[in-house]
Amino acid sequence: MSKKPEKRDYYEVLGLNRNATPDDIKKAFRSLAKKYHPDLHPNDKEAEEKFKEINEANDVLSNPSKKERYDQFGFAGIDPTHGIDFSNAAGEGFGFDDIFGDIFGMFGGNRGGRRARQVRRRGTDMEMDLKLTFEEAVFGTKKDIQVKRRVPCDNCNGSGAEPGTKPEKCPTCNGRGQVARTQRTPFGLMQQITTCSACEGRGEIIKKKCSKCKGTRVITDIDKIHVPIPPGFPDEGVVVPIEGKGNMEENGSTPGDLYLNVTVDTNPIFRRDGKHLLRDLVVDYFQLLMGDDVSVATLDGTQVKVKIPPGTKPGSDLRVEGHGVPIFRDGKGKRGDLFLTIVCDVPKLKDLSQDERKTIEMLAKKRLDKVHERLNAQEEEIQGQQAQKQPSLDDE
Ligand SMILES: [Zn+2]
Ligand SMILES: [Zn+2]
Repeated sequence: MSKKPEKRDYYEVLGLNRNATPDDIKKAFRSLAKKYHPDLHPNDKEAEEKFKEINEANDVLSNPSKKERYDQFGFAGIDPTHGIDFSNAAGEGFGFDDIFGDIFGMFGGNRGGRRARQVRRRGTDMEMDLKLTFEEAVFGTKKDIQVKRRVPCDNCNGSGAEPGTKPEKCPTCNGRGQVARTQRTPFGLMQQITTCSACEGRGEIIKKKCSKCKGTRVITDIDKIHVPIPPGFPDEGVVVPIEGKGNMEENGSTPGDLYLNVTVDTNPIFRRDGKHLLRDLVVDYFQLLMGDDVSVATLDGTQVKVKIPPGTKPGSDLRVEGHGVPIFRDGKGKRGDLFLTIVCDVPKLKDLSQDERKTIEMLAKKRLDKVHERLNAQEEEIQGQQAQKQPSLDDE
């Protein structure tokens, strides 16, 4: 059973590290593409593969949006069917540690590229919802879920017959599961083969039904499944396929797969934008004017010191590096950033002390002449521009 070889990291392919600039990428691609160009290596399969690999890496890393998705989600970010191995028809099954190792993907409910099997009576697939809190998706967690699935009856070993008895050969089809019917047609006698209705094609009938499954051969079982949620888990509605955890209808047959529809709750304070976190920071107008050092709560349940530069404008963002979302499948503990959107709080005059109010009024007197002058100039300019743009309303 051949398995697709492990794909190499695109940065590794180009001999770059993750901090490579667009220029580095371009240069690395050009020199490698020259080196492995098929024209220089006629009939060299290895060079041809290398050349393909280099081109693929460049195709992703030179495209800003593809690059961003790749940086964040790896191969799954650029190819939703990545890691779904079409060649493995025997279905060896993945260990649970591998769930996110290779078969992660299928964003946005896309079920494309599901594996085709040649096994008879493959069990049906199942779907389940899995809700994560905002924090669980950001920091990762382990979820134990209970799956109600059909499995072969353990009392009759999936035969449907009461233990001690055996299914008997179907007398209608003589155990073949099919019956031939001869029909007279305008073209002569035609033989038609159909599934035996007495045994539903099984070739055997159950005389004494199993007391546990009532002869249905299957029972409903509750299976506990352990689902690791890695840090930086996407919050945009992901479908996670879990191989072999769907229904299994027959002993020795291939079970179906379980598809987890994972959704993520919101947080009243924090919002998420991929690897970055965002929240509002309400400050006094005075802090924006003069600048200040403040302590700000993070999603981690800690606080960080943040400098508000003098002259900061409301609506602008302050970046707090490394306090965002852990990079998905990074493994090195790298994180995105936290962005604080500045919201300006303007106090009511009545809330100021008498002393504050006096000072402010004095300041206003000094400043307002200048402010008016600037405002007038600005408004006159806008008015002038608008006057020129007035559409003609004359009838001609
Ligand atoms: Zn049974
Ligand atoms: Zn039959």
